[in-house]
Amino acid sequence: MGSKKILVLAPHTDDGELGCGGSIARFCRDGNEVFYVAFSTCRRSLPAHLAPDTLEKEVIKATNILGIKRENLILFDYDVRDFPKDRQRILEDMVKLKNEIKPDIVFVPSLNDLHQDHQVIANEGLRAFKNNSLLGYEMPWNNVSFNTNYFIALEEQDIAIKIQALKEYESQKNRNYLNEDFIKSLAYTRGVQIGARYAEAFDLIRWVNW
Ligand SMILES: [Zn+2]
Repeated sequence: MGSKKILVLAPHTDDGELGCGGSIARFCRDGNEVFYVAFSTCRRSLPAHLAPDTLEKEVIKATNILGIKRENLILFDYDVRDFPKDRQRILEDMVKLKNEIKPDIVFVPSLNDLHQDHQVIANEGLRAFKNNSLLGYEMPWNNVSFNTNYFIALEEQDIAIKIQALKEYESQKNRNYLNEDFIKSLAYTRGVQIGARYAEAFDLIRWVNW
Protein backbone atom coordinates (compact mmCIF):
# COMPACT_ATOMS: atom_id res chain seq x y z
CA MET A 1 0.00 0.00 0.00
CA GLY A 2 1.07 3.63 -0.48
CA SER A 3 0.14 6.82 -2.36
CA LYS A 4 -3.54 5.93 -2.64
CA LYS A 5 -6.43 8.25 -1.91
CA ILE A 6 -8.76 6.73 0.63
CA LEU A 7 -12.17 8.21 1.38
CA VAL A 8 -14.05 7.26 4.56
CA LEU A 9 -17.76 8.10 4.58
CA ALA A 10 -19.10 8.21 8.14
CA PRO A 11 -22.82 8.87 8.72
CA HIS A 12 -22.00 10.26 12.17
CA THR A 13 -18.75 11.24 13.80
CA ASP A 14 -17.12 8.12 15.32
CA ASP A 15 -18.59 5.65 12.77
CA GLY A 16 -15.47 5.80 10.62
CA GLU A 17 -13.16 5.29 13.59
CA LEU A 18 -15.27 2.37 14.84
CA GLY A 19 -15.65 0.68 11.47
CA CYS A 20 -12.17 1.15 10.05
CA GLY A 21 -10.05 3.17 12.51
CA GLY A 22 -7.26 0.57 12.55
CA SER A 23 -7.13 0.51 8.75
CA ILE A 24 -7.08 4.32 8.63
CA ALA A 25 -4.10 4.27 11.01
CA ARG A 26 -2.36 1.76 8.74
CA PHE A 27 -3.19 3.68 5.55
CA CYS A 28 -1.72 6.85 7.09
CA ARG A 29 1.33 4.97 8.40
CA ASP A 30 1.93 3.61 4.89
CA GLY A 31 1.87 7.09 3.34
CA ASN A 32 -1.60 7.11 1.78
CA GLU A 33 -3.82 10.17 1.89
CA VAL A 34 -7.00 9.64 3.90
CA PHE A 35 -10.11 11.85 3.72
CA TYR A 36 -12.80 11.56 6.38
CA VAL A 37 -16.32 12.85 5.79
CA ALA A 38 -18.92 12.86 8.58
CA PHE A 39 -22.45 13.72 7.48
CA SER A 40 -23.73 14.68 10.93
CA THR A 41 -22.21 15.91 14.14
CA CYS A 42 -25.42 14.82 15.90
CA ARG A 43 -26.23 18.12 17.57
CA ARG A 44 -29.78 16.93 18.20
CA SER A 45 -28.87 13.69 19.97
CA LEU A 46 -26.45 15.13 22.52
CA PRO A 47 -27.55 15.41 26.16
CA ALA A 48 -28.68 18.95 27.08
CA HIS A 49 -25.71 19.65 29.37
CA LEU A 50 -23.20 19.29 26.51
CA ALA A 51 -22.30 22.04 24.04
CA PRO A 52 -23.82 21.47 20.58
CA ASP A 53 -20.37 21.37 18.96
CA THR A 54 -19.08 18.65 21.34
CA LEU A 55 -18.87 15.93 18.67
CA GLU A 56 -17.29 18.31 16.21
CA LYS A 57 -14.46 18.92 18.67
CA GLU A 58 -14.16 15.22 19.41
CA VAL A 59 -13.96 14.15 15.74
CA ILE A 60 -11.24 16.74 15.09
CA LYS A 61 -9.13 15.26 17.90
CA ALA A 62 -9.91 11.62 17.02
CA THR A 63 -9.11 11.90 13.30
CA ASN A 64 -5.92 13.79 14.11
CA ILE A 65 -4.79 10.86 16.26
CA LEU A 66 -5.47 8.49 13.35
CA GLY A 67 -3.15 10.60 11.19
CA ILE A 68 -5.72 12.44 9.05
CA LYS A 69 -4.86 16.03 8.15
CA ARG A 70 -7.33 18.67 9.39
CA GLU A 71 -7.98 19.85 5.84
CA ASN A 72 -8.99 16.30 4.90
CA LEU A 73 -11.72 16.21 7.55
CA ILE A 74 -15.02 17.34 6.03
CA LEU A 75 -18.09 17.83 8.21
CA PHE A 76 -21.69 18.19 7.10
CA ASP A 77 -24.62 19.04 9.34
CA TYR A 78 -27.47 16.74 8.34
CA ASP A 79 -30.03 15.96 11.04
CA VAL A 80 -29.27 12.73 12.85
CA ARG A 81 -31.86 9.95 12.23
CA ASP A 82 -33.40 11.97 9.37
CA PHE A 83 -30.97 11.14 6.56
CA PRO A 84 -33.67 9.38 4.49
CA LYS A 85 -35.43 12.72 3.90
CA ASP A 86 -32.15 14.29 2.74
CA ARG A 87 -31.15 11.36 0.52
CA GLN A 88 -30.90 13.37 -2.72
CA ARG A 89 -28.88 16.22 -1.17
CA ILE A 90 -26.52 13.68 0.40
CA LEU A 91 -26.06 11.99 -2.99
CA GLU A 92 -25.26 15.35 -4.59
CA ASP A 93 -22.67 16.10 -1.88
CA MET A 94 -21.09 12.71 -2.53
CA VAL A 95 -20.89 13.31 -6.27
CA LYS A 96 -19.07 16.59 -5.55
CA LEU A 97 -16.67 14.74 -3.23
CA LYS A 98 -16.03 12.14 -5.91
CA ASN A 99 -15.13 14.82 -8.46
CA GLU A 100 -12.95 16.79 -6.03
CA ILE A 101 -11.11 13.95 -4.31
CA LYS A 102 -11.11 11.21 -6.98
CA PRO A 103 -10.57 8.47 -4.38
CA ASP A 104 -9.10 5.03 -5.10
CA ILE A 105 -10.96 3.26 -2.30
CA VAL A 106 -14.15 4.33 -0.52
CA PHE A 107 -15.31 3.02 2.86
CA VAL A 108 -19.02 3.06 3.71
CA PRO A 109 -21.21 1.31 6.28
CA SER A 110 -22.27 -2.19 5.23
CA LEU A 111 -25.26 -2.43 2.91
CA ASN A 112 -26.64 -4.69 5.68
CA ASP A 113 -26.44 -2.02 8.38
CA LEU A 114 -29.77 -1.52 10.18
CA HIS A 115 -29.45 2.15 11.15
CA GLN A 116 -31.47 4.33 8.76
CA ASP A 117 -28.73 6.97 8.47
CA HIS A 118 -26.10 4.29 7.84
CA GLN A 119 -28.31 2.74 5.15
CA VAL A 120 -28.54 6.08 3.36
CA ILE A 121 -24.75 6.54 3.38
CA ALA A 122 -24.18 2.96 2.18
CA ASN A 123 -26.77 3.14 -0.61
CA GLU A 124 -26.02 6.67 -1.81
CA GLY A 125 -22.32 5.84 -1.49
CA LEU A 126 -22.78 2.95 -3.92
CA ARG A 127 -24.71 5.22 -6.31
CA ALA A 128 -22.12 8.01 -6.22
CA PHE A 129 -19.03 5.78 -6.21
CA LYS A 130 -20.16 2.90 -8.40
CA ASN A 131 -17.03 3.25 -10.52
CA ASN A 132 -14.76 3.03 -7.46
CA SER A 133 -13.67 0.27 -5.12
CA LEU A 134 -16.10 0.20 -2.22
CA LEU A 135 -15.78 -1.60 1.10
CA GLY A 136 -18.51 -1.87 3.73
CA TYR A 137 -17.18 -1.58 7.27
CA GLU A 138 -18.28 -3.70 10.19
CA MET A 139 -20.45 -2.53 13.09
CA PRO A 140 -21.66 -5.80 14.67
CA TRP A 141 -24.27 -4.06 16.81
CA ASN A 142 -25.96 -2.82 13.61
CA ASN A 143 -25.30 -5.76 11.29
CA VAL A 144 -27.82 -8.61 11.04
CA SER A 145 -25.45 -10.36 8.67
CA PHE A 146 -21.97 -9.43 7.53
CA ASN A 147 -19.81 -11.06 4.86
CA THR A 148 -16.19 -11.08 5.97
CA ASN A 149 -14.75 -11.31 2.46
CA TYR A 150 -12.09 -8.60 2.59
CA PHE A 151 -9.51 -8.13 5.35
CA ILE A 152 -6.90 -5.55 6.24
CA ALA A 153 -4.18 -6.95 8.50
CA LEU A 154 -3.19 -4.67 11.35
CA GLU A 155 -0.32 -4.30 13.78
CA GLU A 156 -0.63 -3.78 17.52
CA GLN A 157 0.15 -0.07 16.98
CA ASP A 158 -2.80 0.36 14.60
CA ILE A 159 -5.24 -1.02 17.15
CA ALA A 160 -3.64 1.08 19.89
CA ILE A 161 -4.17 4.20 17.75
CA LYS A 162 -7.78 3.21 17.02
CA ILE A 163 -8.49 2.82 20.75
CA GLN A 164 -6.73 6.07 21.56
CA ALA A 165 -8.74 7.91 18.88
CA LEU A 166 -12.03 6.52 20.17
CA LYS A 167 -11.17 7.67 23.70
CA GLU A 168 -11.57 11.23 22.41
CA TYR A 169 -15.33 10.58 22.25
CA GLU A 170 -15.80 11.45 25.89
CA SER A 171 -19.48 12.27 25.22
CA GLN A 172 -20.12 8.70 24.01
CA LYS A 173 -18.02 6.81 26.56
CA ASN A 174 -20.90 4.78 28.04
CA ARG A 175 -21.71 3.05 24.77
CA ASN A 176 -20.87 -0.64 25.03
CA TYR A 177 -19.24 -0.82 21.59
CA LEU A 178 -16.65 1.74 22.69
CA ASN A 179 -15.36 -0.72 25.27
CA GLU A 180 -11.64 -1.28 24.75
CA ASP A 181 -11.85 -5.05 25.30
CA PHE A 182 -14.59 -5.32 22.71
CA ILE A 183 -12.64 -3.35 20.09
CA LYS A 184 -9.50 -5.37 20.71
CA SER A 185 -11.23 -8.74 20.73
CA LEU A 186 -13.10 -8.06 17.50
CA ALA A 187 -9.79 -7.09 15.84
CA TYR A 188 -8.24 -10.23 17.36
CA THR A 189 -11.08 -12.38 16.00
CA ARG A 190 -10.70 -10.91 12.51
CA GLY A 191 -6.94 -11.44 12.76
CA VAL A 192 -7.42 -15.12 13.65
CA GLN A 193 -9.51 -15.56 10.51
CA ILE A 194 -6.53 -14.62 8.31
CA GLY A 195 -3.61 -15.72 10.49
CA ALA A 196 -2.61 -12.17 11.43
CA ARG A 197 -2.22 -10.63 14.87
CA TYR A 198 -5.12 -8.22 14.32
CA ALA A 199 -7.32 -7.24 11.40
CA GLU A 200 -10.45 -5.41 10.39
CA ALA A 201 -12.95 -7.22 8.18
CA PHE A 202 -14.98 -5.66 5.40
CA ASP A 203 -17.92 -6.62 3.28
CA LEU A 204 -16.64 -6.12 -0.25
CA ILE A 205 -19.28 -4.24 -2.24
CA ARG A 206 -17.32 -3.65 -5.41
CA TRP A 207 -13.69 -3.76 -6.52
CA VAL A 208 -12.49 -1.83 -9.53
CA ASN A 209 -8.93 -1.73 -10.79
CA TRP A 210 -8.27 1.26 -12.98
ZN1 LIG B 1 -23.72 6.21 13.24
